[in-house]
Amino acid sequence: MGHSRPADQADLRRGNLALLVRTLREHGALSRAQLAVRSGLSKATVSSLVTDLEQRGLVRSAGVSAGGQGRPGQLVGLRPTSVCGIGLDLHIGHVSALVNDLSGAVLMRRRVACDVPGLGPERALDALAGLAREALDAVAAAGGHAAGLTVSVPGLVDTEAGVVRLAPRLRWREVPVADGMAARTGLALSQVAVDNDANLGAMAEHAARPVSDLVYVTGDFGIGSGVVCGGRLVRGAVGFAGEIGHMSMDPMGPTCSCGRRGCWETQVGLAAMLHACADPEDPVHDPTRDRDERMTIIRARAERGDQRTLHALHQIGTALGAGVSIVVNLLNPAVVVLGGYFAALPEWLVEPVRQEVAARVLAPGAGGARVVGSTLGFTAPATGGALAALRRVLDDPASVPTVPSAEVART
Ligand SMILES: [Zn+2]
Repeated sequence: MGHSRPADQADLRRGNLALLVRTLREHGALSRAQLAVRSGLSKATVSSLVTDLEQRGLVRSAGVSAGGQGRPGQLVGLRPTSVCGIGLDLHIGHVSALVNDLSGAVLMRRRVACDVPGLGPERALDALAGLAREALDAVAAAGGHAAGLTVSVPGLVDTEAGVVRLAPRLRWREVPVADGMAARTGLALSQVAVDNDANLGAMAEHAARPVSDLVYVTGDFGIGSGVVCGGRLVRGAVGFAGEIGHMSMDPMGPTCSCGRRGCWETQVGLAAMLHACADPEDPVHDPTRDRDERMTIIRARAERGDQRTLHALHQIGTALGAGVSIVVNLLNPAVVVLGGYFAALPEWLVEPVRQEVAARVLAPGAGGARVVGSTLGFTAPATGGALAALRRVLDDPASVPTVPSAEVART
């Protein structure tokens, strides 16, 4: 056996710090002895690592364990607001921010209506940076440290460069979002990320479910998907995988936002659903109303048994199921999560999708694929963004600077 190099030991320690943080996130406060059992590390190693995490302000003592075998032990728990992640969402009709703490709790949530395509990239980023500053202030007020922020964009994103290559609905092309946000917020470029909205939504849904193969399909004016295979997000050769809304379902169908004909989005996008549910003068078509308000109106009609609405939702659910079946035949996911507006109407959309999947998938029992509505709804992309920012600290707790002991004691 050779001598381990210092770099290996630093990696090992980093991995062990991450393991303890993960264990505390899953189980809540534990004694050092319990942490040693759960993590498989020695008690001496656990004690040394806990001291390190205390110095970074990530954990604190959390009372004394009650009963059980052996002596009662001092409990160690996460200090949830010590580190927070910020998720920012750029949408055609609004910008929004969501802050998650280390335990996953929501510290702040805010949305501002605005016409993002009309503003243009520079002014839209100004609006987004205003929300980022509010989020940073909220983190500071809670005595925490911001791990970073992630901007969710409905379009093709070069995540390495932090550039939005193409977002047709925002009318954006080649916009350096990461540079723009770092300059506006004063955060380091390494703390600012940009990603596709459906990829971030898929990460948020995957984090909430113990499965390794998941497909997230999100419904808005556009339709997007995020694919997790073997526990990993599938990005494709150059990062543009998941543009499922532009699968050609009807070559002679209506013209899509992309200029092609009969894309899936023209059948099951929000505009198609609203069109099927109501005549043009109906209030659900009013562009000044936000999505949640329009969904509330549609829900109310479906709940009171309005035939036009029920028929329209069944038609949308059936078309949705036809597309989902293609994905299930291709990928054999354990679960298909329906997000975005689909998640606002699960009582009427999930069952027709299940029926189509059962009828169209070759594998018996649809290969075990379950179809469910998202519980995060429209907040999934921002939640995924906050989680992606937190991931930096969850993977490497030593990236958080040590704080003077007086400050740790105070909070
Ligand atoms: Zn299209």
